[in-house]
Amino acid sequence: MIHTLPVPTPFAVGRVNCYLIDDDPLTLVDTGPNSGKALVELSDMLRERGRRIEDLERIVITHQHSDHLGLVGVLADRSGAEVAVLDHLAPLVERFGEHADANDELAVALMLRHGIPRDVVTALAAVSRAYRGWGGSANVASLLRDGEELGFAGRTLQVLHRPGHSPSDTLLYDAASGELIGGDHLIKHISSNPLISRPLGGRSGEPGDGRPRALVMYMESLRETRAMPVSRVLPGHGEAFGDHAALIDERFSMHERRARRIGRLIAEQPRTAHELAQAIWGNVAVTQAYLTLSEVLGHVDLLLERGEVVEVDRGGVVVLSSA
Ligand SMILES: [Zn+2]
Repeated sequence: MIHTLPVPTPFAVGRVNCYLIDDDPLTLVDTGPNSGKALVELSDMLRERGRRIEDLERIVITHQHSDHLGLVGVLADRSGAEVAVLDHLAPLVERFGEHADANDELAVALMLRHGIPRDVVTALAAVSRAYRGWGGSANVASLLRDGEELGFAGRTLQVLHRPGHSPSDTLLYDAASGELIGGDHLIKHISSNPLISRPLGGRSGEPGDGRPRALVMYMESLRETRAMPVSRVLPGHGEAFGDHAALIDERFSMHERRARRIGRLIAEQPRTAHELAQAIWGNVAVTQAYLTLSEVLGHVDLLLERGEVVEVDRGGVVVLSSA
């Protein structure tokens, strides 16, 4: 039996779905953010199902975002549960703050390089530091490798590394039932656009690789998922759903439309990625600047890959123009 436990978050996305796999070992997939409210509600939801935090025997994390892993340290301490995560995710779970700092450095460099004004970049870095507290760290007892199996008394889940939404996205697939615990890889009501983050190794690229091509990587991952005989996706946010292939096709055509629109804007006149974001969304809130930059760069990467646009360096800032 897999129970959905929707835990509250302070983020715009709303609740995050944690999944309690009532099997041996008793396993929780994702934890919710590091907040008192999340902890209280999670423990109430466990109690309604006849379980306590202290009963947890294993904690698995689907990816590196705070709303999915923030309580990992608190829960592991209280229960003694072993923490099992993708091998490439382990260093980040063990030293969340350090990795968040390194990620912010990458974000600052990218924002300046793509034309976001320095005062906006400074403001955003402060916002990001303020969000740091929702995350958390724990010792990782067990490293999961891409393609490996996660065993239970009554089921086997296949571990799949499908980077894109984040570099560490990990899917858990039950081949017997066709159920897929998907984290934020695929969500029905929102398109989980890839945020550009530092590569962690493995399929997400090696650290220091230059700008990670998050959307290109994400679309490759989605193509692989599309080919699987999935019956139902249990996502990180929102309702469970079937017909994942149709949803993935919708996402592909949406990205194609956006790439074409960006291609037309670049054909009109050469622009920086920041100017492209402004042309599309106007002057967005400061807190959205990195989000929209990631989104534009994702589509620019598709155009670069096809040889339709080129990057020109103008005094340390990248200007995009038609090839
Ligand atoms: Zn996420």
